[in-house]
Amino acid sequence: MKHTVTLIPGDGIGPEVVEAARRVIEASGVDIEWEVLNAGATALEKEGSLLPERLLASIRKNGVALKGPTTTPIGKGFRSVNVALRQTLDLYACLRPCRSYRGIPTHYENIDIVVVRENMEDLYIGIEYAHGTAEAEKFISLIESTGKKAPPGSGVGIKLISEEGSKRIVKFAFEYARANGRKKVTAVHKANIMKFTDGLFLEVAREVAKSYPDIVFEDRIIDMLTAQLVQQPNQFDVLVLPNLYGDIVSDLCAGLVGGLGVAPGANIGDKMAVFEPTHGSAPKYTGLNKVNPIATILSGVNMLRYLKEKTAADRVEKAVAAVLAEGKVATYDLKRDKADPTAVGTSQMADAIIEKLKS
Ligand code: NAD
Repeated sequence: MKHTVTLIPGDGIGPEVVEAARRVIEASGVDIEWEVLNAGATALEKEGSLLPERLLASIRKNGVALKGPTTTPIGKGFRSVNVALRQTLDLYACLRPCRSYRGIPTHYENIDIVVVRENMEDLYIGIEYAHGTAEAEKFISLIESTGKKAPPGSGVGIKLISEEGSKRIVKFAFEYARANGRKKVTAVHKANIMKFTDGLFLEVAREVAKSYPDIVFEDRIIDMLTAQLVQQPNQFDVLVLPNLYGDIVSDLCAGLVGGLGVAPGANIGDKMAVFEPTHGSAPKYTGLNKVNPIATILSGVNMLRYLKEKTAADRVEKAVAAVLAEGKVATYDLKRDKADPTAVGTSQMADAIIEKLKS
């Protein structure tokens, strides 16, 4: 079956890792027509918009996109292009599987944790005012009118967590667990302190869990979770978290399995999905053919699964695993010594995976 997919090269190292992923995906034999459109700093320069309308229309039409990381230029209209993209398309679930592959130098083995991060709410909702502005002062007056104290001259950021938003992300985590043979979902929060935001998230999670008696449910306070992730990460299976904790914990989990170079991701809604690595545009490496394309290639693997191209997805993942296990062809981040002169570049890593696919 032929698929049409929106391809977003992105900024910085984006075009290099996206090109590597495109070549590997095509070598798997799937029939994909790519609609190449950009977002971020490059799109602003060429089209005058960080998030062009024709890009959004293409994703809405195709229902699937593979995206490179984007840079948000400061003071050009958006706090973050990514947050805006996720919010505009209602991509409420951020899925970040963190899995150990043999051959990557790490402190841990056999990690297989899936981070499900809520993408729309929490402190990322975008209600934030600089200290000393009329808006910040208005909020401070409002807080004081309720009998609470606010430090004078504060900057203000608002945390919003809704019942509906919590329900759909926790349901997403359980549905994912059920569909993928996972055994346990852990809800992460700070409900002991933030009783009415994280507390609501936890209350909803407990309620949703009742509909999934086949899956174990537990919860953890965020600070305790981070200690346990470092000491005994293998006890965790699927984690579901509000936006900010999800952002931090997904990078932590990426670190457990070898770093940002091997950490794939996806932003998923009810109607469409955008697959992208967890890492950013790493501007200092732009155009150097240096960084690891595996995070983007594995994001492509998850995209193939979403497109129901299971055989192709399994083949690509197996080829990636084989190249990693051999350890002969590896980018700098996969070397114990980051200055190892035998490290290869982005495109050579893709070549090695394509070679494995052919054999
Ligand atoms: P970053 O992820 O771009 O880079 C941090 C460091 O991680 C790099 O210096 C590099 O050492 C390492 N790294 C990242 N990707 C790698 C790869 N593929 N292979 C090997 N090593 C890799 O984070 P940053 O420097 O904080 O952010 C740079 C820009 O990216 C910012 O403008 C930020 O807003 C943006 N960003 C975009 C996304 C996205 O598009 N989804 C996500 C995060 C950050």
